[in-house]
Amino acid sequence: MLKAIQILGCSSGFISQRLKKPHSGNGFSLISSKTSYNSTPKSLSFRVIRMFSTPSQSNSDAPSSSSSSVAVHLAGNVRKIKFCQWCGGPAKHEIPDGEEKIRAICTLCGKIAYQNPKMVVGCLIEHDRKILLCKRNIEPSLGLWTLPAGYLEIGESAAEGAIRETWEEAGAEVEVISPFAQLDIPLIGQTYVIFLAKLKKPQFSPGPESSECCLFEVDDIPFDSLAFSSIFVTLNLYIEDVKSGKVKFHYGTINKRLGTGPSDIRAFTLDYHLQV
Ligand SMILES: [Zn+2]
Repeated sequence: MLKAIQILGCSSGFISQRLKKPHSGNGFSLISSKTSYNSTPKSLSFRVIRMFSTPSQSNSDAPSSSSSSVAVHLAGNVRKIKFCQWCGGPAKHEIPDGEEKIRAICTLCGKIAYQNPKMVVGCLIEHDRKILLCKRNIEPSLGLWTLPAGYLEIGESAAEGAIRETWEEAGAEVEVISPFAQLDIPLIGQTYVIFLAKLKKPQFSPGPESSECCLFEVDDIPFDSLAFSSIFVTLNLYIEDVKSGKVKFHYGTINKRLGTGPSDIRAFTLDYHLQV
């Protein structure tokens, strides 16, 4: 069944604030914050520490370092690799000579299966002071809201991938305006790159992976039914920026707490938060 194309006609709901380009006057302001998202989302206040030190110093008191170290020592889901991807031979799990992490090593051809993070790209689309969200029609997080985003594919740039994913999931043609956030999630080997974007045409329609696409006023964003921690962080950072009058570029590391499931999207800390 074809789903109706949404023709936009939105009312304003919060302070008028057009996006500005990232501040470029005095160079970088290095800011680190660690935020635990157990509080009410709309009342988030970043504990911001202005600092001019190295990244390792900024995380010296990070309680989540233990969760990161798990990924470091095991180098991802290395024990799930049972067979060689090149020759099909059985894999052993050892630390190769000259290295520090356990890897899957082929017992026949000797090749090492290195695992690297995947990049997820997406768009934060502003229109008429609202944000476009998609309700997921697939697992994981079926029925929960997200920004249009997905895995970057070989042969495309991050911006191209974000535009493609937006077309596939929201049926929307968009123009990328600027990068908004890079959020690393070391424990699951993902990096999110989210762009600010605008609609080329005032139309959108849910694709096969979405059951619904809607524009939300900032104050109406469904924080209680968001799909992923990364989206939760992105939207909170955006709201903070809009309300402070300056939309910035953010880098941060999302460290999920050990023992928490993927559905518990608030069980993390945002570490090494830099904003420009
Ligand atoms: Zn092999």
